[in-house]
Amino acid sequence: MARNLPASVGFLVEVSEDGGSPLDPVFASLGSRTELSERIDGQSLRAVLLHSGAPDSAHAHARGTTVILAGELYNQDELIRLLPGDASPVGDAALVLALFAVYDVHAFRLLNGRFAALVGSAGRTVLATDHAGSVPLYACATAGRVLAATEAKALRAAPAGRPIAARPVRRLAGVHQVPAGTVLDIAVGTGKCVAHQTWTPPLGRRIVSENEAVDSVRRVLERAVAARTGSDTPLVVLSGGIDSSSVATLAARRSAGPIDTVSMGTEEADEFPQARVVATHLASAHREISMSTADLLRQLPHAVWAAESLDPDIIEYLLPLTALYLRLEGPGRRILTGYGADIPLGGMHREDRLPQLDTAVCHDMATFDGLNEMTPVLSGISGHWSTHPFWDRDVLDVLVGLEAGLKRRYGQDKWVLRAAMGDLLPHEVVIRPKLGVHEGSGTTSSFTRLLTESSVPPGSVHRAKHLVVQQLFDQVVVEGRHPDEVKTDAVVQWAADRLDADARTAAQ
Ligand code: AMP
Ligand code: MG
Repeated sequence: MARNLPASVGFLVEVSEDGGSPLDPVFASLGSRTELSERIDGQSLRAVLLHSGAPDSAHAHARGTTVILAGELYNQDELIRLLPGDASPVGDAALVLALFAVYDVHAFRLLNGRFAALVGSAGRTVLATDHAGSVPLYACATAGRVLAATEAKALRAAPAGRPIAARPVRRLAGVHQVPAGTVLDIAVGTGKCVAHQTWTPPLGRRIVSENEAVDSVRRVLERAVAARTGSDTPLVVLSGGIDSSSVATLAARRSAGPIDTVSMGTEEADEFPQARVVATHLASAHREISMSTADLLRQLPHAVWAAESLDPDIIEYLLPLTALYLRLEGPGRRILTGYGADIPLGGMHREDRLPQLDTAVCHDMATFDGLNEMTPVLSGISGHWSTHPFWDRDVLDVLVGLEAGLKRRYGQDKWVLRAAMGDLLPHEVVIRPKLGVHEGSGTTSSFTRLLTESSVPPGSVHRAKHLVVQQLFDQVVVEGRHPDEVKTDAVVQWAADRLDADARTAAQ
């Protein structure tokens, strides 16, 4: 069993006053399931934990309070220092339980992690996401009953809940997604909910010297990589761009032996030569995985099933990664990615002017929530656990907070990151321009071609992609179909026909 992975990677929990009726625990993530049931002051708590063999430290109970935590914390050492005496709880759930006893809901302001958590205590159910909402969390509350799960599909048969301070999920009445960096404090008897925000991206910008900026980026990123690297050989999904190469080189520096790296490509596009430069430099055990764009696009239903996202652009980023993870055989591995560096650094923004750059950073940091870009379910569908050092809470605080002139400098995007890695990577890697995973894998172009070959006019391609993703969401999340039974081609044809019918109606 993969002890290197978090104690639990997902859950379905029901807290009820009357014992309730159990839901079918449907998850896209692979894993063993452990059931537990407890009484808390007249309420029953029933949970199914998804795990890879050792779920004990995902659950803690003491003095009438229970904590269930999927995922992991990255600042345990700091957190333990906050506890009275020489208390040293074993496992992340026990640590949160001890902090909750001292700080109540404000404990969640202290955590740097990748997690979704539930705290049950007398009359209350508390639901919490990490700062980035990187492990999605869904809830449904009625008077006397609270349901929570790390995948929306696990709540598809839940009774319609009352509105709570969270985002409703398409076509799942009463199911809401807990926002990023949020604690919901729900009174079980009434279903009433109070929300507390536990993190927000910095709005101020720090003015520091080049050296100070470069040093702080290097230091905080090193810590983030170290915290995410277990005792086994790290596996980095590597494109050869500056983001994944930074993560790979920092992982390699702290690894006793060679790390593993893997790159994917299609007949349409790959970044194999670029990734090979880095793999050779690091002497990693490197693997190239090639697939046809037809096979890639066949996995579109799996990407939507895993991500539970309705955004077609996001699904284009996530599809090649999903297809890559599906080809990585077991046992479950801890995977590091360079995903997300562009958001705080404005890397996708090919604009030289600083006001526009900071506007883009503000916009992206204000709109990431609910897209599920970093959900662990993408790799969870083949039993792996992915992490994203660039979205560590401390890394984000540093990167977002740097003044824009340190992000774009000397005509380079992401200057501060490139400078921070200058002594660790070949120069050609340090200065390599941005290529998105959707471009480098031929995902966007092949998806577009599939649509135009199905008679979608070029001007309607984005609308068609939106319809395809929405229809896939309806089938694999709302209706609960398995993605193996859903054919991308059929859904594409449906979207093309629907657009055609809409165009005819409009012309009449
Ligand atoms: P990007 O859109 O280029 O920022 O990609 C996000 C992350 O996905 C990178 O940092 C890599 O970890 C990973 N990635 C991107 N492209 C590939 C690829 N072709 N093969 C393997 N991993 C990739
Ligand atoms: Mg890239």
